[in-house]
Amino acid sequence: MNDDGTADHTNQLRAAGLRVTQPRLTVLAALAAQPHADVDTIATAAREHLGTLSTQAVYDILKALTERGLVRRIEPAGHPARFEARVGDNHHHVVCRTCGATSDVDCAIGYAPCLTPSAADGFVVDEAEVVFWGLCPNCQSQRRESA
Ligand SMILES: [Zn+2]
Ligand SMILES: [Zn+2]
Repeated sequence: MNDDGTADHTNQLRAAGLRVTQPRLTVLAALAAQPHADVDTIATAAREHLGTLSTQAVYDILKALTERGLVRRIEPAGHPARFEARVGDNHHHVVCRTCGATSDVDCAIGYAPCLTPSAADGFVVDEAEVVFWGLCPNCQSQRRESA
């Protein structure tokens, strides 16, 4: 990968049948730099490069990228949706209950679904969404300091 990944991102967009635009490239670069960012974080990072870009435009770009499989959307309960460019490996997430910090957890199985329900009631199951909840290192040390 080169410095900012622009060539890779250009190829990704083309392969997905999307027009290559500067805002799309900028959003992909922002996601590469900050995995699991929410829309506001991505919009702020994108504006640093582009000057102006509405939050709605960022929503639209993320929607298109998610639909084409270039971006994965995760939505931990009680937290705003996050986006990441790491797709296709069925990895999971560990989320801090206090601050919402999110990290990747490799899937022990590696393909979806990696868990089999005890009874599927006739459904064809294609994915198990696993979220591990806990307390991140920052929040653990804050809790220790205030105790
Ligand atoms: Zn935390
Ligand atoms: Zn992830």
